[in-house]
Amino acid sequence: MTTKSKDLIHVVEDDLAIARLIGQTLEKFGYGVEFFSTGAEFLRRLKSAPPGLCILDLGLPDMDGMELLPHVRARHAFGLLIVTGRSDTHDRVLGLELGADDYMVKPFEPRELIARVRSILRRYQPAPANPAADAVRVAEFAGWRFELGSNALTSPDGRTETLGMAEAQLLCALLERPNQILTRDQLLGGRDVAALDRSIDLRVSRLRKRLEENPVHARLIKTVYGAGYLFSASVSWS
Ligand code: CA
Repeated sequence: MTTKSKDLIHVVEDDLAIARLIGQTLEKFGYGVEFFSTGAEFLRRLKSAPPGLCILDLGLPDMDGMELLPHVRARHAFGLLIVTGRSDTHDRVLGLELGADDYMVKPFEPRELIARVRSILRRYQPAPANPAADAVRVAEFAGWRFELGSNALTSPDGRTETLGMAEAQLLCALLERPNQILTRDQLLGGRDVAALDRSIDLRVSRLRKRLEENPVHARLIKTVYGAGYLFSASVSWS
């Protein structure tokens, strides 16, 4: 039986003992697993068969996982979970800013790994079938263009990037209700989110870095002190 790509997990880890532990845990829960001990092997494989989720070690023999993240994120919309020995907050925040969905520090409990994998995969599941949703919805605002479904964001000068699911959900929530104050709870949208992604503020700062000329003096995503955020632009949907 072939594994459907959404249930396929890539494990990029050069420590064989850890790779084996992760692999056994995933297989026990029915996931298909492919292993890569270098970043280069993983990138090559992505061209032919992208997975539903990738578990990424940061300390790889040929490159740092942090270098891989933006490469992968620019081209693919699948789940990315960092599993690393590095536990400081700086790495954690940087990893999430570069597009990872969650971050786990070694050593970890197999049950915790599975819980996080499930949570990320759920977020990447397509919305339930709905005839009206078959047509791609596109939002245009301030020269930008965002395509729902593919999560492709195109800048006014024509560069396209693929957003991770957490960022795409936030952008979508803002685009659907422009020029209104939205609380952090409204922006979370009641979706199941991993502990680290509860930080709406972190996601807002990631989006600002993409959208704003000067993220410190944001013009599009404005902070409303004590209340939440406001998306200040007119949005047209097609
Ligand atoms: Ca390593």
